[in-house]
Amino acid sequence: MLPAILFGHGNPMNAVANNGYTEAWRRIGLETPRPKAILSISAHWFVPETGVTISTAPKTIHDFGGFPSELYQIQYPAPGDAALALRVQKLLSPLEVKLDNSWGLDHGTWSVLRHVYPAADIPIVRISIDETKPASFHFEVGKKLARLRDEGVLIVGSGNLVHNLHTYAWGRHPRDPYDWAVRFEAAAKDMILTGDLTPLINYETLGKDAALSIPTPDHYLPLLYVLATGQQSDRIHFPVEGVDGGSISMLSVQIG
Ligand code: ZN
Repeated sequence: MLPAILFGHGNPMNAVANNGYTEAWRRIGLETPRPKAILSISAHWFVPETGVTISTAPKTIHDFGGFPSELYQIQYPAPGDAALALRVQKLLSPLEVKLDNSWGLDHGTWSVLRHVYPAADIPIVRISIDETKPASFHFEVGKKLARLRDEGVLIVGSGNLVHNLHTYAWGRHPRDPYDWAVRFEAAAKDMILTGDLTPLINYETLGKDAALSIPTPDHYLPLLYVLATGQQSDRIHFPVEGVDGGSISMLSVQIG
C-alpha cells in the first residue's frame, strides 16, 4: 500500500530553490515505492465544485504574480491518466464530480513534484477542493479516496498547515516563527500522531492560534484529505519540518 503525503509547499520560489525543504522532497521521491499514478489535491484549485482533470497532457499553470521570469518558464510535462479520473468519479459517486479539461498542474502541484519526481514521468490527476463545502465534507471525500492507496496511487496533498500571508516575511532575512504558529503546529502534530482527528476537522473551534494559522481554509484542507486515508496499521511521520518566513509551516505529513 502506498502512503499518502501532505507537502507544505510554501513560497513558489521553492520550485527553483535548492534548500533543506527541496532536498527532503527529493529524498521522499527516492524512498517511496514508485506509484503508478499520483492523485494531487492542491490548495490552488479551490473552486465551487468537485472536479477531476481528465486531460492526458495536463498543462503547467503559472498561477502567481510578481515572481522572477525563470518561474514562468518552468514546465512539468507529466502525463494525465483518464482512467484514474474516471475511477475517482466512480469512487465518489453519488457525489457529482465534473470531468475537467480546463485546469492542469498548478504551482502547488509542480513546485513540489518537480523535486520529488524530477523526470515528470508519473501520470497525475488533480481533484479540486470545493470551496462551498465544510471541512467535514473534505474529510469524507478523502475517506472514499483511501482505497486508491491499494491501487498503486500516491495521494498527495499540497498546502500548508500554517499559512498566514499577512504576517509572512517576504524579505530575505529569516524570521523566527510566530509563537502562535509554533503552538498550533505542535498541537496539530500531537492530534495527528494520536489519531485525534475530530478537532482538526472542527478546526474553527480550536481558538486563536488556529484562527491565525488558518485565516482561510484553502491551504489547510489538503491535510484533511491526506489524514482521511489513514488506516490503523499506518506509521505516521513528518519527513519535512520547519516554518518559513515566520508564518508558513513547511511540515510534511506522511501516512503509511
Ligand atoms: Zn500556496
